[in-house]
Amino acid sequence: MLAGMSSPILTRRELLRGGAVLLGLPFVPSFGPRHRPRPARFRADPFALGVASGDPRHDGVVLWTRLCPQPLAPDGGMAAEAVEVGWELATDDGMRQVVAKGTVAALPELAHAVHVELDGLAPERHYWYRFRAGDAVSPIGRTRTFPVPAAMPARLRFAFASCQHWEQGLYTAYADMARQDPDFVVHLGDYIYEYAGTDGLVRKHIGGKLTELADYRLRHAQYRSDPLLHGMHAQCPWFVTWDDHEVENNYADAASERAGVSPEAFLRQRAAAYRAYYEAMPLRRASLPQGPAMRLYRQASFGRLAELFVLDTRQYRTDQPNGDGRRPLNAAARDPRNTLLGSEQKRWLWERLAASPATWNVLAQQVIMGLLSYPPPKAKAGEPEDPARRYSMDQWPGYAHERAELLRFLAERKIANPIVLTGDVHANFVLDLRVDDAVASEPIVATEFVGTSISSGGDGSDAAKELAALQPHNPGLRHLDRHRGYVLCEVDAQEWRSDYRIVDVVTRPGGTTTCAASFTVRAGRPGVVA
Ligand code: FE
Ligand code: CA
Repeated sequence: MLAGMSSPILTRRELLRGGAVLLGLPFVPSFGPRHRPRPARFRADPFALGVASGDPRHDGVVLWTRLCPQPLAPDGGMAAEAVEVGWELATDDGMRQVVAKGTVAALPELAHAVHVELDGLAPERHYWYRFRAGDAVSPIGRTRTFPVPAAMPARLRFAFASCQHWEQGLYTAYADMARQDPDFVVHLGDYIYEYAGTDGLVRKHIGGKLTELADYRLRHAQYRSDPLLHGMHAQCPWFVTWDDHEVENNYADAASERAGVSPEAFLRQRAAAYRAYYEAMPLRRASLPQGPAMRLYRQASFGRLAELFVLDTRQYRTDQPNGDGRRPLNAAARDPRNTLLGSEQKRWLWERLAASPATWNVLAQQVIMGLLSYPPPKAKAGEPEDPARRYSMDQWPGYAHERAELLRFLAERKIANPIVLTGDVHANFVLDLRVDDAVASEPIVATEFVGTSISSGGDGSDAAKELAALQPHNPGLRHLDRHRGYVLCEVDAQEWRSDYRIVDVVTRPGGTTTCAASFTVRAGRPGVVA
């Protein structure tokens, strides 16, 4: 845990005043005759999805819950009316020293989710919180504020995770993460999967393939009903970002992967998916979706030790060149018009990176940035062999020009110690990044830590043979493993260490989690330490 628990905290009165300001937010409706909440009575625990907190700053954090007494029922077991929800924030785990409290309306328009955006809190300390609705009381959640921007904290310890297919495995990795007790969690996407329920797997999705708001809401509720998942949310704040499956596999901006779906129809689906995602996550009001648009890219300062840039590589990207699969790095993949970030996010990222005072500059994003090359597939009988190596067109190689621009920017502007965090591929990789990864003589600019899935893909395997076959063609490739798990990062001003924690089995309970490998980067010396 971090030092600084003795930081002075605001007085109870100051904070209660802060709470009153909070309640004046336009997001919280005034209860007119049409919206008057009645005293709620629930047939089952309305806090079955638990509680969560997110997007911490030095002076505030978002508290979240969603009233949902029947997570597996179409409407969550709630009538279509507003319900008053009380919240309390305390400085002790027994909720005796309450320093802020208030009430908010849980609205049917937002699936009875509430987002309480707090400020005026003391930096670098734990807080505990709970909600009340009618006579029901939520579990107590714990959250944490960040150090003040000017501070140089001694260390940072956080976990990152991705890809938690409900049907393919259990969330055993989160039990280990809870024991490791990180300061915060970063989730890099594929939080849910949109596919229809399939028989014969570990668990089963309710319903068909997701396209409508009610379907996306129910899927989020089903996933969050898992006690290991909502238990981890209750333990510390999270930063979340999405990849593709929160909406649909391999979508790109307004382009569905399904033939014959118009951009208009897909944007309607995307609006439903984004809204359900906002409702399910502890996000700030700045992320409240407007139709099919939702601002998810954002920044957080952990003092001057680390600057976290949370990116969105789905909403603004151009369509994948050459289809979504592995193809040669041809002219279409190198087309300078291809973009993963979109022009606004790109401008924002360049500006913020250039202004960052942090020792470590962390890009928390979705798809592999390394120019990772794979052998060509065997030619079909009678067809000529194409010996060109293959690259994933859904990942940064399909946007090779923008990728090179970003790495050149990091190098030329001497952005301090860039670290890239990645999900998506259900495998652990460690990659040293160069402007052109194929040229071993080029200087290393950054290191990419790719984290495996929590559950997607079921029980995994090691990949030593595959690693040995790929390494001669990929000079930056340092590690590959295909087990399930997550990555725990411990960071101070001298050193970044990523521990790859893997689970031996996720298709039945009782899996054991161990640290399979650790990789270190020293500040001021790009590349993982050999
Ligand atoms: Fe995935
Ligand atoms: Ca994905």
